[in-house]
Amino acid sequence: MRPELLNPLFADVTRLPGVGPRVAQRLAKLGLERVVDVLLALPTGFRRTRCVATLAEAAPGERIAVAVEVVQRREAHGRAPARAAALDAAGQPLAILFFGGQANRLLARLRVGGRYRIDGQLESWNGMLQMAHPDQVAPLPPGAPLDAPLGDADGVEPVYPLTEGLTRRMRAEAARAALAALPPIPEWIAPGLLADRGWPGFAAALRAAHANPGAVLARDRLAHDELFAGQLAWGLVRARMRRRPSRALRSAGRLRREVLARLGFAPTAAQERAVAEILADMARPEAMLRLLQGDVGSGKTLVAALALAEAVEAGVQGAFLAPTELLARQHLATLERLFAGLPVRIGFLSGREKGRAREALRADLAAGAIDVLVGTHALFQEGVAYRDLGLAVIDEQHRFGVAQRLLLQRKAAQPPHLLVMTATPIPRTLALARHGAMDVSVLDERPPGRQPIDTRVIAMARLEEVLAGLGRHLAAGRRAYWVCPLVDDGGEGAEPDGEQAAAVSRAAMLRARFGEAVELVHGRMPGPAREAALARFVAGEAQLLVATTVIEVGVDVPEATLIVIEAAERFGLAQLHQLRGRVGRGGEKSVCLLLAGANLSETAKERLRMLRATDDGFAIAEADLKLRGPGELLGTRQAGEPGFRIATDEQAARLIAAADADARLLLAEDPALRSPRGEAARLLLYLFDRDSAVRTLHSG
Ligand code: ADP
Ligand code: MG
Repeated sequence: MRPELLNPLFADVTRLPGVGPRVAQRLAKLGLERVVDVLLALPTGFRRTRCVATLAEAAPGERIAVAVEVVQRREAHGRAPARAAALDAAGQPLAILFFGGQANRLLARLRVGGRYRIDGQLESWNGMLQMAHPDQVAPLPPGAPLDAPLGDADGVEPVYPLTEGLTRRMRAEAARAALAALPPIPEWIAPGLLADRGWPGFAAALRAAHANPGAVLARDRLAHDELFAGQLAWGLVRARMRRRPSRALRSAGRLRREVLARLGFAPTAAQERAVAEILADMARPEAMLRLLQGDVGSGKTLVAALALAEAVEAGVQGAFLAPTELLARQHLATLERLFAGLPVRIGFLSGREKGRAREALRADLAAGAIDVLVGTHALFQEGVAYRDLGLAVIDEQHRFGVAQRLLLQRKAAQPPHLLVMTATPIPRTLALARHGAMDVSVLDERPPGRQPIDTRVIAMARLEEVLAGLGRHLAAGRRAYWVCPLVDDGGEGAEPDGEQAAAVSRAAMLRARFGEAVELVHGRMPGPAREAALARFVAGEAQLLVATTVIEVGVDVPEATLIVIEAAERFGLAQLHQLRGRVGRGGEKSVCLLLAGANLSETAKERLRMLRATDDGFAIAEADLKLRGPGELLGTRQAGEPGFRIATDEQAARLIAAADADARLLLAEDPALRSPRGEAARLLLYLFDRDSAVRTLHSG
């Protein structure tokens, strides 16, 4: 069904000249399998390198190219990095450093007595100039003097995420080849909007965004395209839902009262308000589409339980979906406690149940012998049939998109009411882009009795003190998290899969010191191994959990009272807030230590100050957005922004209103996307993998 025009873009990357099976394999590790993937993976930054004749011409922090002669080499030993001493044309020394498992191999490329052009970021450390992991090391032509000009004065090159064996040059070459494969594509943006904003066409915008750090308009246009595709997709799903009304659910509220009576506490005013809003939605014949936003610990689960109680008493089934097995089991335990002794039959389904148990469960579900089914994505897979699904609750939603929504709708004769819960506080401007036009309820109040988390910023140089403190914490039988840094993607010397590598080596270091108490989780671990490690920590068999940001979502261990976040300056504010929310969940005072590197930028300092000053997730999210401005894309784009391939949060907040208006306008004029602009918009939907939305056009 995909228009033929797009075929070259949906071909395998090996169809690109210069991309063989080996390069393709490495691109695939970055999620780049089709030409269109390479095309839409914009540079995360640009590097400007200044050629200098001597180090004296450069300032620390600057990215330079300089000619040096290597005079000494020392391999890595213990914690000391591999190191080469070099001299520039004026005889000024420069230390060249390599860290990590590849250090000695990288050092071996430098020969004592050899002369090289070294490209990289100049740093100053204890009054000494140094360069860690140069981006490029090239031998000078034989006999060339050190003070000969290095050529091209100012080089600007795009920075893409790399992986082991994929060099900067191969990656840039793939981008160039993908751009050359771009067919002429008709315009989908309304002409008025295009002229008004001064945006280039799609192809020109892509070319500029890959090559030019100042291409603000081009990047805005592409961000708009992505947001526009998203709003169109939501619009198509909405239209389809309107064609098939849901069903009004109402009860006398007996189950809800029983659940409330079982609590040892009263709901907060915010919880009561959210429940009232949800019940009002469920009592109407259009399917509810509501987002429940509440900071970690704000008590979303109780709200979900009360909505499920209402659905069950109204005579339909409920489903409660969590993103991981572990979280699903936590929800199961909570519901079993809240519904104990009540006529509510709860089932559990993850990918793990097999054979007869699974068949029995499916039969019960189809027969209506289960009232509430808790589980993972397995809940909505093919072959799982409900007798009468009336309410679906989805926890931690950013992985739940248009396609899943459509699948969910197929589970019921009438579309079920949908409640989506998220702990990521989202500024209002962004909610529309992330979640489509959902109604929003907010839990802006915490259950009483929570202690604020003592948050401190500590220089990485004081690592030893932090370790001593951690040792005392563990010796007292307490639990803690250690979060490893996000790793800069750039640099051919960078370690493969840097973030995992950082976690693995940090865990090894901590194990050497604290032994069996240390457990490790990272994103590249197979699911079951990861969940086993988490389970050991939850059970208290492990006291220290070393992790990448995979713990960000949902892990709930009230006994953990200390979290150490390494290289905190590299994380987004909202992300730090989420991570910090892993502690402070029990009655005990908790501490969050933000380990920061030297030479923080003013913005970085401001962000860490903000985090210390407040623990209001919404205030933090708004501030985070304000601290990032539009403008030149030099330096690296913040890693870990969820949701979009191209649009940054800043762009989404700024551009979503126009994208939404344009999508609504188009759908109002041409609901079947048959006009020339409508046909162009279909292409756009495919480009951003919104095929499922296109399919709604062809189904009842
Ligand atoms: P989250 O919003 O992060 O999912 P949970 O639903 O897991 O939060 O609730 C966090 C903790 O707060 C749970 O232990 C829950 O029992 C407790 N809790 C929820 N609501 C209240 C309340 N109104 N008063 C006191 N404790 C509450
Ligand atoms: Mg929760």
